[in-house]
Amino acid sequence: MDLEEEAYDIIKKHTEGVFQNIIWKELQIDSRKCSRIIKKLLDKDLIIREVGVSNGARTYLLRAKEEIKEKYDLLLAGEMFSVCTGCSCDCEPEYCGRLSEWIGKLMEEEARKSEEVDEIEEIFESVGEAGENI
Ligand code: SF4
Repeated sequence: MDLEEEAYDIIKKHTEGVFQNIIWKELQIDSRKCSRIIKKLLDKDLIIREVGVSNGARTYLLRAKEEIKEKYDLLLAGEMFSVCTGCSCDCEPEYCGRLSEWIGKLMEEEARKSEEVDEIEEIFESVGEAGENI
């Protein structure tokens, strides 16, 4: 495994993000070499980089893109983003119409996925039956 792969593995392991200075210390390389490796990962669109501060020093917070995508998937009901994200209303979830609507969308999405699986199974069954009749 080369240093680029090792750096990417470290970033993927830290699902909440990892500071760039942690990576160069873990890989026992200098910060310049680490910056070049991080640039390659950025150019390949595998990670994102945000400005951060670690122990009072300016550094970068790095996250793997696939981790971000997976997290956002959990906040989506179809095309509808979680209504609780950024909400500043007085919260009573059991009486919240917006939350009920979002949960309803989640259930619709799951039902739609389940119907797609049923349709695929029916297609496989019909193909299997057609094969038996030949
Ligand atoms: S449950 Fe309703 S009120 Fe509470 S945070 Fe979510 S959207 Fe806002």
